[in-house]
Amino acid sequence: MQRTIVAFIGGAVVTLAVLLLVGAGGKVTSPTGTAPDRYVYYPGTEALEPDEIRITACGTGLPAARRGQAASCFLFELGNGDKFLFDIGTGSMANIASMMIPMDFLTKVFISHLHTDHWGDLAGLWAGGWTAGRTVPLEVWGPSGARPDMGTKHAIEHFIQTYNWDYMTRAAKISPVPGQITVHEFDYKGENKIIYQENGVTVRSWPAIHAGDGPVSLALEWNGYKIVYSGDTTPTNWTLEYAKDADVVIHESMPMPDDMVKFYNQPPQLGIRASCGFHTCPPAFGKVMSIVKPRLAVMFHWFNEEGTRYNQYDGVRQTYDGPVSMATDMMVWNVRRDEIIERMAVSPDNAWDVPGPGRPGAPDPDFPSQNTDFILQGRFDTTEAEKQTRDAYNKKYGLNE
Ligand SMILES: [Zn+2]
Ligand SMILES: [Zn+2]
Repeated sequence: MQRTIVAFIGGAVVTLAVLLLVGAGGKVTSPTGTAPDRYVYYPGTEALEPDEIRITACGTGLPAARRGQAASCFLFELGNGDKFLFDIGTGSMANIASMMIPMDFLTKVFISHLHTDHWGDLAGLWAGGWTAGRTVPLEVWGPSGARPDMGTKHAIEHFIQTYNWDYMTRAAKISPVPGQITVHEFDYKGENKIIYQENGVTVRSWPAIHAGDGPVSLALEWNGYKIVYSGDTTPTNWTLEYAKDADVVIHESMPMPDDMVKFYNQPPQLGIRASCGFHTCPPAFGKVMSIVKPRLAVMFHWFNEEGTRYNQYDGVRQTYDGPVSMATDMMVWNVRRDEIIERMAVSPDNAWDVPGPGRPGAPDPDFPSQNTDFILQGRFDTTEAEKQTRDAYNKKYGLNE
């Protein structure tokens, strides 16, 4: 960054202006200088410090996801290069993609529970990432349920079965390896139990109390930092104990009960139950934070807009006067020892996936074709129309396709 003091000294101002615009090396520079980067985060332009965590909210809203806010999804990027997705709710994949992170760095997904607003876009990461350069299988961590058919293992096995046509047809054309999902199901009853430990990173889980048994809250620990992610839950004694003194606690906070009726079309009995019964309403969120006392509390799982924002804030401030972020999609936090910076990411609507260090493997020549002779004999022959395109392509890449 260039700092320049402009002095008006008679005719010297013209010479000075020329110097400012052209610079010593002949490079044209702006006479106004460069704006500081404190306002926004441009994905892909800032290397993390070795002792820093970047958190990006890729989904902060409600199950009826809207363009302005997808459902729950948080991306954690650590200074050691590791990246983790905690939940991947409906609509969040577009926000993840706009971060322009190579797909091989987006392979670890932790699911807090199996409501679609917390894993509905796994399909987008799975199939979209497969076509966009991921070279390895996805890995999914998620809780068991009260019965085997309510657990993450059941969900992922049946996910693959549900998308069988997608899997078989892609696997016939491109490398089948990235189309696999490795599932790690852990006991939802574990209390601050380690569910992942690798490369200096530990993820712990404890039970959440929601619409049925199975949901969990998660904590990510690395380099002395602790980040807590509540998933969907009422306030719990487990969170009071295990989130204590965390750097950041990302905790759900539903819209105020009256806003559930006014904006979300809930009947009055359900509005209060959904906000304060099987979720956490803003005054309850504030009460939890007043005890846990994180460096920063982040409230998500509500639609953040002019109509709701002030009610939400007033609700929290009934019980908590500490630092709080009112999350919305594409909010970014840089977590450092001495400060936590909140900014908005400014990212392109039309981002392509960025190539990673690896290249996708070759198709499996033994994988059976999924087209029968019946369907192929209906193909209209456009060889002549394609000839110019094919010849140029083959010449450029030394192929004979
Ligand atoms: Zn839920
Ligand atoms: Zn939810």
